[in-house]
Amino acid sequence: VNEPKRGAPPPPERERLAEEALAHAGEQGIPRLAIPTPFQVGRVNAYLIEDEPLTLIDSGPNSAKALDELERALASHGHEIEEIELLVITHQHIDHFGLAAILARRSQARVAALTGLDRYLANFKQEAELDDRFAERMMLRHGIPADVVGALRAVSASFRAWGGAVQVTTPLGDGEQLVFKDRTLRAIHRPGHSPSDTVFLDQRRSILLAADHLIGHISSNPLLTRPLGSEPEDLGPRPQALVTYLSSLLETREMALELVLAGHGAPITDHVTLIDERLRLHRRRAEKIHRLILERPRTAHEIAHQMWGNVAVTQAYLTLSEVLGHVDLLINEGRVREEEVDGVIKLTSSAR
Ligand SMILES: [Zn+2]
Repeated sequence: VNEPKRGAPPPPERERLAEEALAHAGEQGIPRLAIPTPFQVGRVNAYLIEDEPLTLIDSGPNSAKALDELERALASHGHEIEEIELLVITHQHIDHFGLAAILARRSQARVAALTGLDRYLANFKQEAELDDRFAERMMLRHGIPADVVGALRAVSASFRAWGGAVQVTTPLGDGEQLVFKDRTLRAIHRPGHSPSDTVFLDQRRSILLAADHLIGHISSNPLLTRPLGSEPEDLGPRPQALVTYLSSLLETREMALELVLAGHGAPITDHVTLIDERLRLHRRRAEKIHRLILERPRTAHEIAHQMWGNVAVTQAYLTLSEVLGHVDLLINEGRVREEEVDGVIKLTSSAR
């Protein structure tokens, strides 16, 4: 679901900037620890805050390989798991928090996460089950065939082993500060990629730990996700993940930042240019989807198929979320409406 970036500097120059940015973060006491995951996204970035308390931002997934590499990465900075005093979780995706319970048990670290995410993490298995039921409802309602939905359910259940429940000891309100000896980090809720996305601002250094809210080499998928604390069968309006994400992006765009440390891949040194590229990408994609709907009414699944062809089963929900996010923009603009036929939603031009 990615497009090559436009207007980005050429690869060697970009690599040099990324290296410099990583070195700078390290000098500021925020080295990156890139932890392997079994997922398509590749490695996930945890960040160490070498301050008091010694803090780890995100843990990586729950696997022996991730634990092993995390230990070695910590060792390369002269630390071990037992020394960690605070563990901070950025959002509800298993590649970011799966190891948290093991790390907290071994280190006795406090665990901090956004208020609302704490309950989710404490009851991870049940919450993930509710997420799957919500996703299943969305997929059937938007035209994904029942056999594909069943296959995805099985995949999702097997992925759950890379997560694990963890008790949050320090719930964070939106805007709340984490105070260290040499810095403060302000927790800011920036939902869209997931309902719980939290970014952490070191205002004095103009560094933002953004997790998956902003990633340099891929656009963060605004996944259609059950709102925290809701029931999967809630018949309220569908959450508008992309609309939420775009307004979060606009807020981040206004921040004065020297460096954005992302949850995957290289640091971002020019967040305004990157965010503007993302805004254009989503606008283009919405217009393309609008043209498909103008041709004839289609389900979101048919549109996803038209745009990306036969994607792997595991990508079916991603592409559906991608289409529905842009459809929401068109619905809000009054250009598209939903029509329910036998429990399945067809998307129709409002001009029709
Ligand atoms: Zn994520």
